Amino acid sequence: MCRERIISPIGEVDQAQVGRFTSDNAPFPSEPDTTMPTTFDDRDLDLNLYTALRAAWPDTPDTTAIETDTGLHYSWSDLERGSAMMAHLLASLELPDGSRVAVQVDKSVEALMLYLATLRAGLVYVPLNNAYQLAELEHFITDAEPAVVVCASRNFSAVSKLAFSRGTAFVFTLDDDRSGSLLERASHHSDRHEVVARRAADLAVILYTSGTTGRSKGAMLTHGNMLSNARTLHHYWDWRREDVLIHALPIFHIHGLFVAIHGALLSGSRMLWMSKFDAAAVVARLPRATVFMGVPTLYVRLLAEPGLTREACAGMRLFISGSAPLLIDTFESFRARTGHTILERYGMSETVMLTSNPCRSEDGERRGGTVGRPLPGVQLRVVEAGSGRLCAPGEIGAIEVRGPNVFAGYWRLPEKTAEEFSADGWFRTGDVGRFDDAGYLSIVGRSKDLVISGGYNVYPAEVEAYLNEIDGVAESAVIGVPHPDFGEAVVAVVVPRPGASLHEADLVGALKERIAAFKVPKRVMFCAELPRNTMGKVQKNLLRQQHQGLFAA
Ligand code: AMP
Repeated sequence: MCRERIISPIGEVDQAQVGRFTSDNAPFPSEPDTTMPTTFDDRDLDLNLYTALRAAWPDTPDTTAIETDTGLHYSWSDLERGSAMMAHLLASLELPDGSRVAVQVDKSVEALMLYLATLRAGLVYVPLNNAYQLAELEHFITDAEPAVVVCASRNFSAVSKLAFSRGTAFVFTLDDDRSGSLLERASHHSDRHEVVARRAADLAVILYTSGTTGRSKGAMLTHGNMLSNARTLHHYWDWRREDVLIHALPIFHIHGLFVAIHGALLSGSRMLWMSKFDAAAVVARLPRATVFMGVPTLYVRLLAEPGLTREACAGMRLFISGSAPLLIDTFESFRARTGHTILERYGMSETVMLTSNPCRSEDGERRGGTVGRPLPGVQLRVVEAGSGRLCAPGEIGAIEVRGPNVFAGYWRLPEKTAEEFSADGWFRTGDVGRFDDAGYLSIVGRSKDLVISGGYNVYPAEVEAYLNEIDGVAESAVIGVPHPDFGEAVVAVVVPRPGASLHEADLVGALKERIAAFKVPKRVMFCAELPRNTMGKVQKNLLRQQHQGLFAA
């Protein structure tokens, strides 16, 4: 494929500077690192994550690093220089150490540069799902107290008003067409930048997750957490310089931002960048790619494409699935159709990746219905909830983890953090599972009532709280039920107030104005009374049983 042009990421480029880098970033290794150790001591991690990623890039800075679905080619030099300019802009704001940069923008390569720039500047990146509505943003901005907020220009008016009222000093805009005040301002800065030194324990990212109560908690991830995990995956998944990743995931979540992007950047591998997932467009790119990552829903959609054939996948090396359970039916259909066995892995915001099915055949087979074995350097155990007794193979228990990948705690919630760790330092994932005799883990459920719809987490308590505020609603229970496309679909069971006449479409419409579309129930059912146990708790298991056939084909 011939390269159309190298674009300058922002503003006018001084061509004389292309390919010139600061001494702290050079030289590049010309060969991919195949001698990566499987465990790491803390000293190996004592560097800025950006410096580690950057050291892996090819020594041909003008070659393509990212090719977009709009036909643009970004070179390694573009990534280096664009992120340098943005890092200078951030530094020029003279923010206190540890300041947060909260970002809610559409997917773009410039948004990726902003992430890299925040790392380079030694600040803390706070990615926010771009489906969040203003009422939801209010919580994140109030809680994270970002010094800088970057939003899409269409949201500037409302977001800046909110952010300034919460003490944010700077609000910039960034759009997916390479426009916005962030790029305008950054273009006045130098494209050479000295990376700010960071240690393994220094905070790099706050990733908002949600709790069973519906309140989102900020998981604090350090440079060391992410670097240790990225190196482990680099080795375990056998990443190579020649790999080409189809990047079709959002970049506000660990899957798209850390697992996928760190994987490619730490290997100096090219990305085929898609602003959003489109099954036909992914299939069209398969012959030019080697690695694809997706949530299970994406695999279901790929299987619906007639173009997904053995021939189309002949050059592919690895298909990876995660973020939600991959149905065995999808796993088997994909293998039958393409000849490729999907590698399923398991992780979470607080811990990055925990387990993986093997990549190389000498490490073992990939077992459908399992998330594989603990990654090298990650300790994982299944224990009886309460007693902490280790479960035998086959026995179901709570999944706990320990390792350099485990986060530094929840932002400004020390009590909550302490509750989630055992006395001997194991993090309680909230997932329930079992090991088989060969050490493969299966996840059988979530102790917290999380619904995962299309790979996105939906916390019932949050949706219930919004529903219960609507006139005429007495109470509600939100559950996940099997759905052929989304894995699980959000369903609400609502008890109307006496005399109220409620309609499904009205409730759905009211919720759509308040919460992200992926959280809005696909169906709303009505009943006179919710089933409860003697302790007064709603028996959601009975509701799930009752409604499990709602989306049956
Ligand atoms: P998040 O923090 O958004 O990545 O969500 C993490 C949760 O997703 C985990 O605690 C699991 O419940 C679930 N999860 C991630 N990967 C898998 C998987 N392969 N199979 C089943 N559940 C998964």
